[in-house]
Amino acid sequence: MHDIFSEEQKYFQKIYEVCEDIANFYQFQKIETPILEETELFSRGIGISTDIVGKQMFSLRTKGGDYLTLRPEGTAPVVRAFIEQGMHNLPQPVKLWYFGPYFRYERPQAGRYRQFWQLGFEVFGEESPVVDAQIIQIFYNILREIRLKKLIIEINSIGDSQCRPYYKKLLVSYFRSREGALCADCRRRLRENPLRILDCKEEKCQRIISQAPQMIDHLCESCHSHFKEVLEFLDGLELPYHLNPYLVRGLDYYTKTVFEIYEESPEGRALGALAGGGRYDPLIKLLGGKDTPGCGCAAGVERIVAEMKREGIKFKKEKEPEIFLAQLGNLAKRRSLRLLEDFRAAKIQVAESFGRDSLKAQLAKADKLGVKYTLILGQQEALEGTIIVKDMALGRQETIKIEKTVREMEKRLKSR
Ligand SMILES: [Zn+2]
Ligand SMILES: [Zn+2]
Repeated sequence: MHDIFSEEQKYFQKIYEVCEDIANFYQFQKIETPILEETELFSRGIGISTDIVGKQMFSLRTKGGDYLTLRPEGTAPVVRAFIEQGMHNLPQPVKLWYFGPYFRYERPQAGRYRQFWQLGFEVFGEESPVVDAQIIQIFYNILREIRLKKLIIEINSIGDSQCRPYYKKLLVSYFRSREGALCADCRRRLRENPLRILDCKEEKCQRIISQAPQMIDHLCESCHSHFKEVLEFLDGLELPYHLNPYLVRGLDYYTKTVFEIYEESPEGRALGALAGGGRYDPLIKLLGGKDTPGCGCAAGVERIVAEMKREGIKFKKEKEPEIFLAQLGNLAKRRSLRLLEDFRAAKIQVAESFGRDSLKAQLAKADKLGVKYTLILGQQEALEGTIIVKDMALGRQETIKIEKTVREMEKRLKSR
C-alpha cells in the first residue's frame, strides 16, 4: 500500500479532473460507496472461482460475527447501491461514476499495489449496444484528454446464457483432449472456469489456445447482432479497435461485449491494460435486484500514472505568489495575519513566513521565491497604519496606507 503525495498527487488530481469533466458532459452522477462490504457481495457478484475471490480479498470478521471485505473492485458495490437505494425507480438509464481506493492481496511487484485506485463508469437500465460503444468512447476520451495518444481498443463478445453454455462445452472438450499439455493453473481452470484458460499467458498454453474454438463463431442471434452493432458504432466514431477472440476478462459477471484499452507500444503492452470493462446484464438480478441490464468500465489510476510518466507527460507550473508579506514585531504580526485574509478574499496569492521573527530570514525567503513585491510591516508602520512596498526588480520602496494595500497591489500586478 502506498502514500500518494507530491508529484504523484498532481497526476492523480489531473486524472480526477479529466474524469469529472467528462462525467459532467455525459451526465454521469458521482457515487461513493463504503470501503467495506459484506463478503458475500463479492463472492456472489464476482464469482467464487475467480482469483479475486479465491486469493486476493482482504476479509475480516467483526465482533458481531459479520464477514466483511475491503472492496476489491467497483462494480459490485455500485450495483448493491443501485438495488438498495431503489434506483430502478429513477428515470433509466442510471449513469454513475466513481473514483477511489480498492484492495487486493497480490504478490508485490513493480507498479502493483495492494491498495490501488480505480475510476469507473457504469450505466444501468439500457440494453442497447449504443451504450457499450459510448462507454468505450468515454474511456478513450479520458485517456486521450490525459494526452495518451497511441491507444488501441481490444474487443470481443463472450455471449450470454443462451449461447455460452454450448460454447463452454466445446471448449472443455477441446482442452480436455489436450489437458496434459496445459499448465497447472489451466488444468485447474478447466474444472472451475474454462473460459479463463483463454487468458493464460504461458507459452505452451498459448499454442493450444490459438487453435481453440472461438466464441465469436458460436454466438446466438441476439448476441451476434448486438456485437455487430457495437462494432458499427465504433466504426462510426472512428475509434481504433482490434477483435481479440481470446479476451474474456477476469470476472464472471460479463456477458456479450468485453473490451480493454491499451497504450500501443511494447512497454505499454507489457504493463497491461489501462482500462477494461464490458456488459453485465445478469449481475443486478444475481445480486437480488430487478432484472436490469448494465454496462461499465474501470481503469487503474496508478497504471495510467505510470503510462503518463513513461510518455513524459508534464504539467503546467502552478501559479506562484508574486507578493511576499514580511512582518516584524507582535503588533505587526497581528496586522499581517488580517491583511493576509484580505488578500485571500481578493484572490491574490501571497507568500509569508509568519513563524519567523528575523526580517533578514523573511527577506531571504522572498528572494528565493522570486516574488515581484515584498510588503514589509514593521513595528513603526503598524503603529502608523502604513506598510512598505518594495519593488524587488527595481529595488525601490515606498510607504502606503495599510488599508489601501490590497487595492494598490491589485493595480500594480495588473499593470505589469
Ligand atoms: Zn495456462
Ligand atoms: Zn447469446
